[in-house]
Amino acid sequence: VADRLAEFGETIFTQISELALKHGAVNLGQGFPNFDGPDFVKEAAVEAIRSGKGQYARLQGVPPLNSAIADRFEKDYNVKVDPDTEVTVTCGCTGAIAAAFLGLINPGDEVVLIEPYYDSYRACAAMVGARVKYVTLRPPSFAIDERELRAAFSSKTRAIVVNSPHNPTGRVFSRKEMELIASLCQEHDALVLTDQVYEHIVFPGTSFVSMASLPGMYDRTVSMSSMGKTFSLTGWKVGWAVAPPPLSDAVRKAHQFLTFAISTPLQWATVTALRAPDEFFQQLTHQYTARREKLVTGLREVGFRVFEPEGSFFVMADHTPFGIAEDDVAFCKYLIEHVGVAAIPPSFFYSNPNDGKHLIRFAFCKDDDVLSEAISRMKAKL
Ligand code: GLN
Repeated sequence: VADRLAEFGETIFTQISELALKHGAVNLGQGFPNFDGPDFVKEAAVEAIRSGKGQYARLQGVPPLNSAIADRFEKDYNVKVDPDTEVTVTCGCTGAIAAAFLGLINPGDEVVLIEPYYDSYRACAAMVGARVKYVTLRPPSFAIDERELRAAFSSKTRAIVVNSPHNPTGRVFSRKEMELIASLCQEHDALVLTDQVYEHIVFPGTSFVSMASLPGMYDRTVSMSSMGKTFSLTGWKVGWAVAPPPLSDAVRKAHQFLTFAISTPLQWATVTALRAPDEFFQQLTHQYTARREKLVTGLREVGFRVFEPEGSFFVMADHTPFGIAEDDVAFCKYLIEHVGVAAIPPSFFYSNPNDGKHLIRFAFCKDDDVLSEAISRMKAKL
């Protein structure tokens, strides 16, 4: 393994999913729905394959998809973007993140990560030779500490990664938090790379603020997302980056040599998906609100201290009330082997594993039956 990746092991998602399978555990670990995506989207893919949309797509995306992404961006965030020069279709949001890091960050540049962080950000930083500065979110509020955030910025800061709704805490950063990030980026002439894949899974009472819509921020923001979470098709790996032309050019420069283009028929089907009626998005919120309620209530009844999420399909809980395990890894192992439920140990998402060792992350992108089974196993055995 090359030095740049030597410190990284197999991702925790793969490890936990394999362990869950081995022990027949109900999998509330890796964040993928156990239900299928909607028929109208699947049918659109079948139709695209049948009608011969089988050759390479244009590198920045098939034109109708770039337009559908631009239209959604305007509808959702009131920002008008040019579909041809400001939208790039990538291999999931993970592909967009990799292309943004490779296209925009130089070795030695500083990148600010808010921790717990999704694991690919730190790996991408390592792959481009960036230096990482961490800002830690701590329970119970998981709020951004202004002093810590300020201290993370310097004259060497090239970018901050902002993931909201946030995996794994379920935070949706407030307007005030987003404005603070924005003002520091303006002060230090830094970019914002956003990962907003849970943008449509936000619970009542909370609103998602997109960085690109804040005054003066569009020009320094790469907004990244995907269709996987919104349409419960995480395996399709269709994502995108929206950014002003100079930043989009840089993202494309990397993207063209990473994958060149993305699955053509799935891009066509994503056009149909993104043009779904408003009711689709309302129903999504409605269903996830019910799933959140079920799991949060269940976990509290089991005896966890639960930090209720504002968005995403994850919930963090404190496992120390049980006094079963020293840390999150040991607790997760116990949970899989003795209780038959899989969850993710969040210490993997902190630069100092001690910061996450009393926590555990559950995913609730699961059917009612699965959530019920997990809760009843935990009630019986914890
Ligand atoms: N985003 C998913 C999660 O947080 C995992 C994706 C992956 O397996 N890399 O669970």
